[in-house]
Amino acid sequence: MRTNVIAGNWKMNKTNAEAVEMLTELKGLVKGIEDVKIIIGAPFTALSDAVRTVEGSNIAIAAENVYPKASGAYTGEVSPTMLKAIGVKYVILGHSERREYFHESNEFINEKVKAVLENEMTPILCIGEKLEDRENGKTAIVTETQIREGLAGITPEQAKNIIVAYEPVWAIGTGKTATPEMAQETHKQIREVLKDMFGTVAEEMIIQYGGSMKPGNAKELLAQPDIDGGLIGGASLEADSFAQIISAAR
Ligand code: 13P
Repeated sequence: MRTNVIAGNWKMNKTNAEAVEMLTELKGLVKGIEDVKIIIGAPFTALSDAVRTVEGSNIAIAAENVYPKASGAYTGEVSPTMLKAIGVKYVILGHSERREYFHESNEFINEKVKAVLENEMTPILCIGEKLEDRENGKTAIVTETQIREGLAGITPEQAKNIIVAYEPVWAIGTGKTATPEMAQETHKQIREVLKDMFGTVAEEMIIQYGGSMKPGNAKELLAQPDIDGGLIGGASLEADSFAQIISAAR
């Protein structure tokens, strides 16, 4: 049985002080919950205090990006070594906003996946089709290419420690959610690709859904057999709504 993993992605929101305040509240709300893995992805400036704030709780902290080199002349970038050193456990990679605004390719994302694994953190690899892909019947091929190229050169042993987040681009921040059936169909296709690449390990891999997940629709999405959690943007910014989604995952 796979344990649901509920992760927040704050994106470019919250100052350090706001992050600490929200995490302090969330810690109280989710105290004692053991049957759901809880993660918050925070901006770089809040990571260090975020890790300190959740210490001893059931919340882990994720970064939202990383540069795939250990150190060196890469002005403005942050390395996996630096994230690991402050206690970050997960790194969100290949988010559609990074693919769109920062032109990240599957090849570059693949380098990041490997760098994160080498530093004993867990990559959360985001994939998902655009509206025009879905309308043209290309969802399966687009997501398959993102997985095959994003996870090229990964061994089954490493794959056990990778989370895939399926986020249809047209559902992100739009209030439009894939229906549970629509999401399940794509999650099943994704797991088939993972099976082809990694064999039986694919049954253990977490595939999260993301895109306008909120307290009102989380339960029916999470009830689908191949949906093992959520990656939540807007509804993760407030402790109460995020805690409600966590409850729906139990
Ligand atoms: P929303 O939940 O705001 O649609 O964002 C989803 C997302 O992009 C999470 O990574």
